[in-house]
Amino acid sequence: MKFTLPELPYTLDALEPHISKRTLEFHYGKHHQAYATNLNNLVLGTEFENADLETIVLKAEGSIFNNGAQVWNHTFYFMSFSPGGGGVPKGKLAEAIDKTFGSFDKFKELFSQAGATLFGSGWAWLVKRPDGSLDIIKESNAGNPLRNGLTPILTCDVWEHAYYLDYQNRRPDYIQGFWNCVDWEIVGKRY
Ligand code: MN
Repeated sequence: MKFTLPELPYTLDALEPHISKRTLEFHYGKHHQAYATNLNNLVLGTEFENADLETIVLKAEGSIFNNGAQVWNHTFYFMSFSPGGGGVPKGKLAEAIDKTFGSFDKFKELFSQAGATLFGSGWAWLVKRPDGSLDIIKESNAGNPLRNGLTPILTCDVWEHAYYLDYQNRRPDYIQGFWNCVDWEIVGKRY
């Protein structure tokens, strides 16, 4: 099959207690995998049969877009974490965060709020505009900022499947835990 999941650079229990092994077994092992399997089936015989994932995210519509963007978004999300995560960004990203939001704490507050208040299923994103400035945006369902010419820097999946096993309805608690998993070394390279 053409579209596959990334191999995670950590074990499934590495993000505990913030994101449990059981959540990763379902979220990565079942949900992410299902989007990739669906995408592989959906593109057969279409103009996207030989397209790369980014082209699908940028150009496709309907189910091909939904499954393709969900593959992209989940890979980006899972590849932002490490067991030694948390702390604060450094270098150019840290400077841009301070410049745009005033401080890292203020950024965290605004990003957490965006994730907590997103109605229904979707993703909170930290993005870079073409001029280098930053913004926090919310995207519903499979939404992806590349469609609007923005560069994704960090994302938090706020679909219920991302947190329900660990936190039930307490999405804000999941988002607090999320900060302890983010590897700023990896995320900083995206800026
Ligand atoms: Mn998800």
